[in-house]
Formats: sequence, C-alpha cells, structure tokens
Amino acid sequence: MKNQIIPLISLTAGLMSSCIGAKGTAKETVKEVPNVIYIFPDQYRNMAMGFWNDPTFQKEGIKGDPVHTPNIDSFAHESLVLTHAISNCPLSSPHWGALMTGMYPNKSGIPINCNSNRPISNLRNDVECMSDVFHKNGYECAYFGKLHTDHPTRNNPQHPGEYVDKNKVVWDAYTPKERRHGFDYWYSYGTFDEHKNPHYWDTEGNIHKPKEWSPLHEAKQVISYLKNEHQQRDTQKPFFIMVGMNPPHSPYRSLNDCMEEDYNLYKDLPIDSLLIRPNADKSMKKANSARFYFASVTGVDRAFGMILDCLKELDLDKNTIVVFSSDHGETMCSHSTKDAKNSPYTEAMNVPFIIRYPEHIRPRTDNIMLSTPDIMPTMLGMANLQNNIPKTVQGYNYASILKEEKTQKVTRPQGALYIKNTDGEKDKDGKVISYFPLGRGIKTHAYTLALYINRDKQLEKVQFFHDEKDPYQLRNLRLDKHPQVAKELLDLLGKELKRIEDPWYKENILSDMISYR
Ligand code: CA
Repeated sequence: MKNQIIPLISLTAGLMSSCIGAKGTAKETVKEVPNVIYIFPDQYRNMAMGFWNDPTFQKEGIKGDPVHTPNIDSFAHESLVLTHAISNCPLSSPHWGALMTGMYPNKSGIPINCNSNRPISNLRNDVECMSDVFHKNGYECAYFGKLHTDHPTRNNPQHPGEYVDKNKVVWDAYTPKERRHGFDYWYSYGTFDEHKNPHYWDTEGNIHKPKEWSPLHEAKQVISYLKNEHQQRDTQKPFFIMVGMNPPHSPYRSLNDCMEEDYNLYKDLPIDSLLIRPNADKSMKKANSARFYFASVTGVDRAFGMILDCLKELDLDKNTIVVFSSDHGETMCSHSTKDAKNSPYTEAMNVPFIIRYPEHIRPRTDNIMLSTPDIMPTMLGMANLQNNIPKTVQGYNYASILKEEKTQKVTRPQGALYIKNTDGEKDKDGKVISYFPLGRGIKTHAYTLALYINRDKQLEKVQFFHDEKDPYQLRNLRLDKHPQVAKELLDLLGKELKRIEDPWYKENILSDMISYR
C-alpha cells in the first residue's frame, strides 16, 4: 500500500531532518523532506525589487523600481526568479483562496473579496488546502499574519457574539480552530489596516496587540517559532510556515504606515525619480504615496532578511524551501487608475515569485507563466508530495520544471487567465447572494487581452495590448486590426475557461467571439 508508506517515510525523514538541521550531517536524508516557508506580503508588485537593475537581471527587461531591497536582492541571486508569475484574479481574497486550494475563484469558494456583506465568499471547508496536505504528511504547520479568506461572522472569541469590527460592513475575522485547515500554530487575523497597531489571535484565540510595525513583529514571531522559544512546535517534525505580511498594502500616506528609517531613504527624492514607469501619471494625488509604498517595501525586505538570517543561524537554510511572493501587485499611478490592483495591467498581475532550495534549484531566471492555482501543487511537488495533490486541484505541478528534472516531460503553460468578478444579486437585507463575472482575459508572454461585459452579458469593453512591443501597455489595440492574433488568444481563453468550468463557459458568454469547443 504505497499511499500508506509515503507519509511514514516522510515522517521518518522529517524526524531526521530536524536533528540534521541542528547538527548538519547525513545529507542524503535531508533531501527527502524539506521544510517550507512561504512569505507573501500584500500588494507587492514584481518590479519593486532592486535586483532587476543588477547586471545579472537586466537582460529580463523588467524596469526595477528605485527601491532599496538588499535582502531580497541577495536572496534572488541564490534562487530561481520567475519573471512571469501571474495573479489571475489580482485581489486579496480570491488570490488567497486559489493559493490555498489550487482552484480558480469559481471553485475555491472565494470569487470576490471576503466581507460580512458577502456570505458567498468564504474559503471552502470541504476541500483539502495546501496546509491540510502538509499536515497530513507529518508537517508542523504554522500561519502568521494576514489571512483574508473568511466570511467575517460574530466571532470575536474575547467578546462572544460581537463582530471584530464595530462597523457595519466588516472585513476582519477571527478564524476558529475548525477553519484553520491543518495549521497547528496560529498567529493571525483577517484584515486590519493599522500597520503600527496590528492585532493577532493566537492558537487558543487570545488576542495580542503588540503596537509594533506588523512585518517586523511577524518576523520576530516567526523567529521565536523557528527557535522554539516557547515550545511552539514539535521539532521532530518538518515545518510548513506561511507568513502573510500586510504592508506594502495601503494605507501608505504617513509615518503611521511605515518605519521612519525606511521613509528617510525616499523622503527627499523627487516623485519623478520614484515613479519611473513611462505609464505613470505623476499628476495623481496618489503620487505622494510612492515614498511610503517604497518605504514599506524596504521594511518588508528587512523583515524578510531577519527570517533568512535566523534560518542560517539555526543551520536550517539548506533544507528549507523559501518562497517570496505576493497576492497581487500595485498600479501606483500607472495608467492613471485609482484601482491599485483589480486590473489586467502588468503592475497589478505580475507578482514576485522567488524560490530558493539549495542544491535542488539552480539559481537562474525562468519565464514560466505560473498561475495562482499552480502554486499549491507545485509546492507539494517540491516537497515530494506530488502523490498527495488533491483531485480537486485545477492548477498544475511545475516542480519538475523548477528542479530542471529531465525525467518528466511537463508542458509549459501557454498563458494565464485574467478574472474579474463583482457583486451579483443581493437579498432583501443587502447581502450579496451571487457574484457577477464582469471580465475575463488571457495573458501570454506577448499579449494581454481582457474582455468585459455589461449586466446584459454583452461586450462592453476590450483591453488588448502587445506586451512585447509595448511593455507599458500604452496602446489599446483593436481586435479587428489583428484578426489572427485575436483568434489565437480568444481560442486559448475559451479553452482555459472551459477547462476550469468558468461561468463564462457555462453560460456561453460572448460565444460569438470566444470558442468554447
Ligand atoms: Ca491584497
């Protein structure tokens, strides 16, 4: 019975790896069961990393923002850096649902951002999430920071029957134990945007208000967990840790939002020298946020560096897979849009995805279009748990591409979907009871195409860019002027929407344009 043996082997190797982690022997066994740390600050765009301007990375043609990120830069040189990781539905909750379940927003339970007015958006409890699989296979699982995947209910454990937030529409949520999907250790909250006044509920449901800039506080908590200062974990087991840092998410307008020492790096720089993308509208009021956004980026870099240093200090760096990513990007005045994220623009959809696994992943870049639902199966594949990928998963396991294994032939994706949903119908109390699939699109290495419908489900708007020739997406092309390319993109879009059983496929939306065969 192969399926029963695998977890036992994993557990044994895990036992050994944690001893080895401390003492540094018996290399052979270490390779079997890696520890995993997945760190994903919120709203961190791919270009906001200094190394893009290093000679090694310049050939990728990604114009790096003028940011100070020394820790991420060193990490990138030791890692595989993906140039085209895509957040398919670039918004917090839908991304996180897809990340956790390996399913697209139409299946994960989270088609739109979670809040108390939207009971239809709630992470499914009846499917196995990434953490469930790690837990089942002998891992000690821990979650730190923001996790915006729950429909907030009257659930503050210290004030039973009360909302966490007193406002009418609430975003924040305490996650009860039965909804934690295999996470043994908990230090988390739903959504709360006072970066220097964060709060967290711990494993037992006690609230903590540390009055410390949240990424730094979370890094310290992760370090304490790694060092097992308070017997937080079973050191006989390998660990799977996720860290959802809220900055550089808004607000980004004052020293209440970031560390002063980081702000000082940017405060005297003219906006022209900060918003360097040719599509940036520097006349927007938001332009002043650039200094605070980049200061937050630098602060996140420091917090990330603290965790990396601790891994090294504990001699855990060799046997730990570390990922740095984000849930979506940030437009920051590009395209004159006030919407920081929910769009098909590169600034919103292209996220960092940097993965380090010494001796298993060769440091380099790769342009694979990794979609959000691919992350879960790929991470499980990286940890040799590919036989445990749940049947419900819609994404693909690209671990063999990341590890450059020649034995398995895995087809690379031709493109990545773009998905935009909004509120559908509401009941008499104003609660959202369905979602409306407002826009769908496809992104390839060469093009971005997004189609939007009105409430009668007729075509309302098209965004079509030749990203290779026009990387800043300044010229919206006409479909009828490029019939061959348009057909290929629409065929790929139809094929993917059919594969994931999207509402556009099910309702035959725009079937005069999109082939769903
Ligand atoms: Ca977000």
